[in-house]
Amino acid sequence: MSKKRQRKKQERSRRAKPGRASAGASKRGPDLELLEAATAKAREDAGEFLRRDDLAARVVQLADGTRELALRVMRQSPLEGKHECRAGCGFCCHTAITVAAPEAFAMAAYLREHLSQEELAEVRRRLDENAALASSMSRQEYITRLPTCALLTADDNCRVHPVRPIACAGFLSTSRSKCEAEYNRVPGRDPVPSDKFAMLAGLAVSNGLMEACKRAKLDGEFYELNHALRRVLDTPDAADRWARGEDVFSGCLK
Ligand code: SF4
Repeated sequence: MSKKRQRKKQERSRRAKPGRASAGASKRGPDLELLEAATAKAREDAGEFLRRDDLAARVVQLADGTRELALRVMRQSPLEGKHECRAGCGFCCHTAITVAAPEAFAMAAYLREHLSQEELAEVRRRLDENAALASSMSRQEYITRLPTCALLTADDNCRVHPVRPIACAGFLSTSRSKCEAEYNRVPGRDPVPSDKFAMLAGLAVSNGLMEACKRAKLDGEFYELNHALRRVLDTPDAADRWARGEDVFSGCLK
């Protein structure tokens, strides 16, 4: 190989890998740096929001902004463009999900706006069923049962897709067939090739939101989806009470 070609090869190997904002910039690893920055940004954005007087009226905007930030960070994954997750594929929607209060408020508002009374009654019934099941066993036992999410439609779509939990948005797989095999518990199946970076990105941003809530002396815990959503649907002034620092989710599973 000529010296010129050797030099070009060395330059290429020093360049950042696609999808990684600061690859090669730190000895601690570029992903960690990016994720820490995501947590800090989420904490800062949410912190600013939480200082406003009209927080209860705008809490859905807080959830939207946090989710958009999470999605932006997720798109920096090295696996971006390789995911096989599509509308109408719900193999991963049979597990335990936790949500932060603003996410629960956003989902409840979306359901109230988009569902008929009959559909909402059906969702409530399914939330109750799952909440009771989740309360009656360990989280691991619950997951093993493959509980169908109360928000999954008969044709395997998410009823709240535009405002879905960050935990759901960050669960991305590069093989639909492996997700199907996992769902069907096929003996000898391969593990689901989930996008670890996207999952960590979701966690990083969610942690930033949680930290900002705690600094503002608001409930920043994560609650089991069925419990949290049922509580918000049952409590018309839930957002006002949460914004006043009240314990709206008392008794909900975490
Ligand atoms: S909230 Fe939507 S994406 Fe998440 S598990 Fe339920 S149906 Fe699936």
